[in-house]
Amino acid sequence: MAIASLIAGNWKMFKGPAEATSFVSALSPAVAAAANELDVVVCPPPVSLGAALQAGAANVQVFAQNVHWAEAGAFTGEVSVSMLVELGVAGTLVGHSERRQLFGETDETTAARMVAARAGGLQVIACVGELEAEREAGETEAVLERQVGALADAADDLDGLVVAYEPVWAIGTGRVATVEQAQEAHAVVRRILPVPVLYGGSVKPDNAHELLGMPDVDGALVGGASLDVASFAAVCAAGARSS
Ligand code: PEP
Repeated sequence: MAIASLIAGNWKMFKGPAEATSFVSALSPAVAAAANELDVVVCPPPVSLGAALQAGAANVQVFAQNVHWAEAGAFTGEVSVSMLVELGVAGTLVGHSERRQLFGETDETTAARMVAARAGGLQVIACVGELEAEREAGETEAVLERQVGALADAADDLDGLVVAYEPVWAIGTGRVATVEQAQEAHAVVRRILPVPVLYGGSVKPDNAHELLGMPDVDGALVGGASLDVASFAAVCAAGARSS
C-alpha cells in the first residue's frame, strides 16, 4: 500500500485502556476533516491496543509500538505479529530511538521486526535518526545510510513500509530540526529507500505546517503533542493543509 500522507501519534508508556477508548472516541470527530486527506494513526501501549480498537473509529488506525520477529516462543515481554493481527491492529512502529537507546535494539533487530511485520500483513513505520554527537561530528548522512541501508537490505518489497526520520536530539526535548535539516535528511533516506518519510521530533501544532510543507516530508510521527486530543488534531489539520 502506498501511503500518501500520514500523521502518527506515539503514546509511548502513557494511557491505559480506559483512557485509550475515551481518547480515540474524542479524536475521531476532531480529525474528521483531516482524515479525508491523510491517514491518522495512534500507537498505544500494548495493553491499550484492544481498547483503542474498541472505540470503533473508522478514521483512526491503531498501530503497535513494537513487535517481535518470531511467531511464538520464550520471549518474555514481547508480542508477536499474529497476536496483533488477531486484535485487529493495522501496523506497528519498529526501531524507535527509545527502543534502540534504552532497550538495546539494533539495526538488525529493527530490520527483523520489520520483515516479520510485513510478512504478516502489518504496515510498518521504521524509525531512524542520528544522536546529537553524531550530528555534531558531521556523521548524520553516514548514520542514516547505515540505519536505512539495513532496512533496505532486509526488505522484500517496499509496499506498506514507511520510514520516520527522528533526530534523537529532537525527541521530547522541545528542540526541532530546521526545515532545511529535515528536508536534507529525508532526501538521504529516500535516496536509499523510496518510501514515504515522516518527520519526528518535537512536532507541535505551531511548527507542523512548516515542516510538513517540505517536499520530502510526507507526514509526522508525534510524541508529546499526540497525548492531547486538541493538539494532535491540530497537527493532523496542519498535515491535511500541506497535503
Ligand atoms: C516520538 O516519540 O517519536 C517523538 C517524536 O516524540 P516528541 O514528539 O515528543 O519529540
